Amino acid sequence: MEKVIDESIQGSALILDQSSELPRKLYIESYGCQMNFSDSEIVASILAKEGFNTTQVLEEADLVLVNTCSIREKAEITVRKRLEKFNAVKKSNPQMKVGVLGCMAERLKSQLLEEEKIVDMVVGPDAYKDLPNLIREIDDGRQAVNVILSKEETYGDIAPVRLNSNGVTAFVSITRGCDNMCTFCVVPFTRGRERSRDPQSIVNEVTQLWEQGFKEVTLLGQTVDSYLWYGGGLKKDYERASEIQKASAVNFAKLRQMVAIAQQQMRIRFSTSNPQDMTLDVIETMAAHRNICNYIHLPVQSGSDKILKAMNRLHTRKEYFELIDNIRKIIPDCAISQDMIAGFPGETEEDHQDTLSLMEYVKYDFGFMFAYSERPGTLAARKLKDDIPHDTKIRRLREIINLQQKHSLLRTQAHIGKTEEVLVEGSSKKSEEHWMGRNTQNTVVVFPKENYQPGDFVNVRIVDCTSATLLGKAIGYSDNN
Ligand code: SAM
Repeated sequence: MEKVIDESIQGSALILDQSSELPRKLYIESYGCQMNFSDSEIVASILAKEGFNTTQVLEEADLVLVNTCSIREKAEITVRKRLEKFNAVKKSNPQMKVGVLGCMAERLKSQLLEEEKIVDMVVGPDAYKDLPNLIREIDDGRQAVNVILSKEETYGDIAPVRLNSNGVTAFVSITRGCDNMCTFCVVPFTRGRERSRDPQSIVNEVTQLWEQGFKEVTLLGQTVDSYLWYGGGLKKDYERASEIQKASAVNFAKLRQMVAIAQQQMRIRFSTSNPQDMTLDVIETMAAHRNICNYIHLPVQSGSDKILKAMNRLHTRKEYFELIDNIRKIIPDCAISQDMIAGFPGETEEDHQDTLSLMEYVKYDFGFMFAYSERPGTLAARKLKDDIPHDTKIRRLREIINLQQKHSLLRTQAHIGKTEEVLVEGSSKKSEEHWMGRNTQNTVVVFPKENYQPGDFVNVRIVDCTSATLLGKAIGYSDNN
């Protein structure tokens, strides 16, 4: 099951192919959403030009970077604990420098230097191109900070190095920042205003990935359906664009079409879709292109109209159902997943029941479910009291998770007896004898290896399942090889 925030990879030390020509050692650890992991690949690319090789051995690093997440308090606590560990290592290696990157850097800015005595450098998500200068500062013994948010930066001109890659699937960022201002969410404050990346640079990156042997890309953004390229600049300034810019603008449906046509054997995924930004033409382009996968991650956060309004989610429960109905009508076998928040301020038992009944209507394939965590500076933190007792939040979250597990099983059971195309990603975590891959709906499929290889598209007959995994038997290569 793909996770928006994948617990299994949180904090992994990322590593690229070793080059003996690079004299200094970089240890980079990433937390949070896939965009952060993708950003770490941009950082490693920038630093490779500065003479840094990646290492997985913390003790031998010259520079330790931690790419952080602020989305919930727990994510920040985890990073603070890691900084304590780095402190212990720094005692035996005083030359080692420590930098904090990403959302926590942006949220806390130079406060981090004062609070965490071992931090030498604080760099926000739009300032990575300044890293070479900042590193020179810290090499000279000064502390360095750059947390300026940009109107333009998309890193479209940087070729990310793929860290810890399986060589088969890759992530490609298409937008940065977010303008949606959901009241619970810290992202607009840590990642700035929304801007889109030049479509040609996206197509070029996808083509390069194909040439390197990759078979699947996920186009990444906080709200991908809101993608809009009109020559650069913030999404909010589009109204002021010239007529020529508007006439040649590229929206998300068009971008996906460009990518799908440029690499017709490559699987295309995308994440995340905000229901308020998703339009019918996006669903129609999915149906029109075989290589765009039948899977939509469509967070709703709550099933109650009152709570959706308080969250500033700009759609109602009824509109969400209409969107779901349209998806099911246009792409009948489309998998849909959710993000849900339990215990938002003011949530009554009735609101919680609305969430459960919404889930009953949709019967999501997977879900990512969280207890509400108040984030400083957000609209909710400023205007609403975090008034749901912890135990109630946890009980409601448990009920949501239990229902999701029931629906996940129902969904996976529906695959039994079918033959599905699976893209092989690597060995199954549980058995060296089995491959692990995914079907178009993004469900994990495990099957005996035989002579197949990672990167192969294999037709697999599904014979059994758990709520998260399909088990099958290969019956031959698909015609996509
Ligand atoms: N941009 C996407 C959207 O708006 O749907 C996802 C953003 S966030 C990286 C991923 C998920 O974290 C959200 O969909 C939400 O469920 C959860 N989340 C965000 N802020 C939260 C908070 N303050 N407390 C609990 N969960 C939160």
